[in-house]
Amino acid sequence: MTVLRKNLIDGEWLGEAGSRNINPSNTNDVVGEYASAGPEEAKQAIAAAKAAFPAWSRSGPLARHAVLKKTSDEIMARKDEIGRALAREEGKTLAEGIGETIRAAQIFDFFAGETLRLSGELVPSVRPGVGVEMTREGVGVVGIITPWNFPIAIPAWKIAPALAYGNTIVFKPAELVPESAWTIVDILHRAGLPKGVLNLVMGKGSVVGQAMLDSPDVNAISFTGSVGTGKRVAAASVEHMRKFQLEMGGKNPLVVLDDADLGTAVDCAINGAYFSTGQRCTASSRLIVTEGIHDRFVDAVKERLDKLVIGDALDAKTQIGPVVDQTQLKQDEDYIAIGRQEGAELAFGGERLERESPGFYLRPALFLGATNAMRISREEIFGPVANVIRVKDYDEALAVANDTPFGLTSGICTTSLKHATHFKRNSEAGMVMVNLPTAGVDFHVPFGGRKGSSYGPREQGRYAMEFYTTVKTAYTFAG
Ligand code: ADP
Repeated sequence: MTVLRKNLIDGEWLGEAGSRNINPSNTNDVVGEYASAGPEEAKQAIAAAKAAFPAWSRSGPLARHAVLKKTSDEIMARKDEIGRALAREEGKTLAEGIGETIRAAQIFDFFAGETLRLSGELVPSVRPGVGVEMTREGVGVVGIITPWNFPIAIPAWKIAPALAYGNTIVFKPAELVPESAWTIVDILHRAGLPKGVLNLVMGKGSVVGQAMLDSPDVNAISFTGSVGTGKRVAAASVEHMRKFQLEMGGKNPLVVLDDADLGTAVDCAINGAYFSTGQRCTASSRLIVTEGIHDRFVDAVKERLDKLVIGDALDAKTQIGPVVDQTQLKQDEDYIAIGRQEGAELAFGGERLERESPGFYLRPALFLGATNAMRISREEIFGPVANVIRVKDYDEALAVANDTPFGLTSGICTTSLKHATHFKRNSEAGMVMVNLPTAGVDFHVPFGGRKGSSYGPREQGRYAMEFYTTVKTAYTFAG
């Protein structure tokens, strides 16, 4: 018997069974059944959030601190169970699922702390006798639209600051991962949020998401997902003059220079390109390697790829889980075919794998001899596929790294202080890593990119305040 998870609207769990959640490691395994909201439910959720805003925005730090802290504590106490459910519905490994769950707990803990550190500024006016106060207020009803690849961390890093700064929320998670979304909302609800402050509307993007975009009562939208949907969010938000924040794709370069420590470079490439099945917007999908180390690097990467255990996400031995679903698997395979047609050499993997249970298993793929002009080097694949682009020297590596429509993360493996420093200063990415994988970031510092990767203020850490608050400048004449 699978349980039915319902939507939370104005403090009530509502809805009939509408969609099933399938385990990508075993398509015979139904994770659960979930309500699917329509436009009416979306409207009710938005109205509830609007009605709840005045009281919540004036609730004061202690009420918000209590809910966020309690949520963090419960997530941490249940990390193994929640992490396992996450791995079951999304297909990342158990270790990755539990790690992501811990991160969600840390994010709630961080923003619980932030509620006690709210501050403003007081300055003298240029007019004698007048004082000027600058304070921050919540924006209002925030629409939160999330993708499937970080089912608990992305909702956490949007919901926690939204609540901390006094906003109310309509949350629409990705259709593929409703269990993690439901769990986080259930915990927050039981932690004592007043009704209407957080509303969950699981359902289709084209229906529920679109209803959020079209509502004049949604004052801000924080979105993570594809470039195409991001542009829709942007256009609809301009129409309503609302704040919006977008996190979209990446085509992140990892530069490996001749003077790199080979072990470090291989670790960075394997982790950055293939962990989480390559389904991270921060994944290193372009490995830009200078001539002197190229062959040694490629041999060592292939050797490591050969040893990786690809299998059921819930098996503790698994290092790479399945692809998330049939559609993504087809996209990965289509791009592998495109890469071959374009003339890149498929030097490893790229074929489907059979395992004990029916699932979307793909052997990680490595292309050699790729150019930066090929579609596989320009478009985000979002799977366990990486291209090696051979370059002459550091200058060419930097130019190739920056020659991309995206700009989320970048990385360099080198023992040269000069090159590391130059790369940090000149890489056109929001986040730069030296001798570290391009994926895997801290929870307490800003996250975001440039160019086609991101739009609007950064997420996470104290910088999240920029998006989730609006500044008020108040003048007082005291005679
Ligand atoms: P992904 O490739 O990560 O699935 P999408 O952009 O399709 O990227 O999905 C990201 C989120 O955007 C999901 O929650 C999805 O349901 C939602 N979404 C998709 N279409 C729309 C839309 N027209 N309006 C609002 N949200 C949408």
